[in-house]
Amino acid sequence: MDFRETTDLTLFVRTSGEDIAAWNRQRIVDALIRETNVDAETAEAISREVEHQIASSSMGFLTAPLIREMVNARLIERGLESATRMHARLGFPLWDVDHLMLYQNKENANVPHTPEGTNLIFAEGIKRDYALLKVFSDEVGYAHLAGDIHLHHIGFIDRPYCSCQSLEYIKKFGLNLPDAPAVAAPAEHAEVLLAHMVRFAAALQGHFSGAIGWLDVNVLFAPFLEKLSDGAVEQLSQMLVYEFAQQAVGRGGQTIFTDVHLQWEVPLHLRDVEAVGPGGVPTGKSYGEYGSHARRFLWSLFDVYRKGDASGRPFTFPRPLVHITEEFFRTDGHEAFLKHACEVAAEKGNPAFIFDRDDALNLSECGYVLREAAGKPEETPQPWTMRYAAIQNVSINLPRLAYKAGGDEERLFSLLERRMELVAQAHEQKKYFIERLLSHGGDGPLSMLTMDLDGSSYLSLPRATYLIGVVGLNELVKRQKGAHLHESEEARRFGSDFIKRMKEITDSLSALYGMNFILEQSPAESTPYRFARLDLKYFSPEAGRYVRGDIARGEVYYTNSVLFDIAAPVAPREKVRYEGTLHRFIDGEALSHLWLGPNPSSPERLAEFVTFVFHETTNRQIIFSSDFTTCRACRRTAAGLRDSCSFCASDDVEGITRITGYYSRVSGLNRGKIAELRDKRESVF
Ligand SMILES: [Zn+2]
Repeated sequence: MDFRETTDLTLFVRTSGEDIAAWNRQRIVDALIRETNVDAETAEAISREVEHQIASSSMGFLTAPLIREMVNARLIERGLESATRMHARLGFPLWDVDHLMLYQNKENANVPHTPEGTNLIFAEGIKRDYALLKVFSDEVGYAHLAGDIHLHHIGFIDRPYCSCQSLEYIKKFGLNLPDAPAVAAPAEHAEVLLAHMVRFAAALQGHFSGAIGWLDVNVLFAPFLEKLSDGAVEQLSQMLVYEFAQQAVGRGGQTIFTDVHLQWEVPLHLRDVEAVGPGGVPTGKSYGEYGSHARRFLWSLFDVYRKGDASGRPFTFPRPLVHITEEFFRTDGHEAFLKHACEVAAEKGNPAFIFDRDDALNLSECGYVLREAAGKPEETPQPWTMRYAAIQNVSINLPRLAYKAGGDEERLFSLLERRMELVAQAHEQKKYFIERLLSHGGDGPLSMLTMDLDGSSYLSLPRATYLIGVVGLNELVKRQKGAHLHESEEARRFGSDFIKRMKEITDSLSALYGMNFILEQSPAESTPYRFARLDLKYFSPEAGRYVRGDIARGEVYYTNSVLFDIAAPVAPREKVRYEGTLHRFIDGEALSHLWLGPNPSSPERLAEFVTFVFHETTNRQIIFSSDFTTCRACRRTAAGLRDSCSFCASDDVEGITRITGYYSRVSGLNRGKIAELRDKRESVF
């Protein structure tokens, strides 16, 4: 066959290196040999075929991606599937880029629609493709794409999932990050400690894909507050909340997903520990002796939450998590504080109440339940070594298992076992990848996580957890038993048995893989929507009978986790009691949502309810949520979702709701969340 030789071709190619190069067939050969497993002869033949096709066409301008696809077509013709994968190019179609830059993406209500936000989306898109091609097996990747499972934050494949740590680390070592152009000595003043905390949180956000939690925040600040007036403590409280609330300049313009763990009483693991004070120096006193300052700070933080921002809106972040223990009820002033916290809950909905029974400390982000050795101080960890991480979160589509089982219970449990085994493999594959990144040590991408200022690596992989999220127990039970969880005792019993079985499988997989797998309530921003949508696609008409929401409008979802149907007419006590029985099997975050109506709730009633939950249920965490409407015209905020402002009647209003674990704007919600918002039933207290 006669065609023009390389040198005769006057074509130019736009390369990915931002320049234009003259056509050179040898570049195809080089790329095939460098990137794939094809031999030189095949590479040579393919390059000639592509050159011929180009020469015999009338194309005047070529791009490197186009040539790569032409080469891929030749690889496929030859049945060289693995070489095709190795030679893949990751990126976005022009149309997608155009749309993503111009229109809001609702996958994550937490990503703002800004240039930084689209940067994040593009980076995530490429890393997601990379994860599916290079990190996960085909089986795992397929299960994710088909909606059997959901690999959370797959676009952040090169980071662990979430992290929870003690402020004591930066109090003791200052702000000393690898590669940082400047090192800060331990803080001498409370505001400087806060500044270090905020910077460190931002650095952590760059290394973890999910929540960043801080332990014992008000207690660990206390040695810095001794000489501060009440006014100065108020100022510090405002700074803490606003610093984290407005930290919208971080990754992708996202506010850092921050949790602050707070305690009215000085917790057992700190009570007799010598406090670290200004300058990183031990103060000679135990944290137990700083109780009054810790409480002063906590009270004042809740004053800030109660007020809300300058337009009276609730703060989205940092989320205040109040730990309630036996000791709480023995600590002076707890009644007044609980009422104060419940005033905030009633008016703004911020606090989550975490119930630590029997001296356990629940670290909700990473699924740690720290079982403290009461009365054995030598077993209490040094506070600065308290840091915990989860590496990945994978949720399971439970309703789909029930569709596949077709009502056969034995088959359902055997499908469950196989699905959970697949999740374990997904976790192991992510673990190998993170190990590879960490193996580059101080020169690698995760150098910050290998720093060892206290003698051990900041991230300890052997201690880390791997989360298994549960989505749609309610619909699985409905398919299997013909009733929703709230509708029959038999349904509830089956739900409990099912989660108990999941816990047993989780434990045996942990032993088998030598990894800490734990169950958790899926974070479920978009997962219940995605699972419902994919089940309608692949399991219709059956799925149509079980998905919730409005199918005609495409606004569908599954009930998250082990929760009751969001529309269920169940008394709050019954709801938290039953959900709490399942929390016993869930070591990761487990949380009951209670929706408050637009009419003000009584803080006393809420306080009574919190006390009831602690003493009479096994529920691990509750949160009271309200909706708000904020007005752009007069900058005021009213309770409830409204079409117009109740102060100035303007219709330039924005709804705010907490349909996931944090507040978001209604306009940013995905379609599944919109349906949930419509269906949710309010609790009456
Ligand atoms: Zn208004």
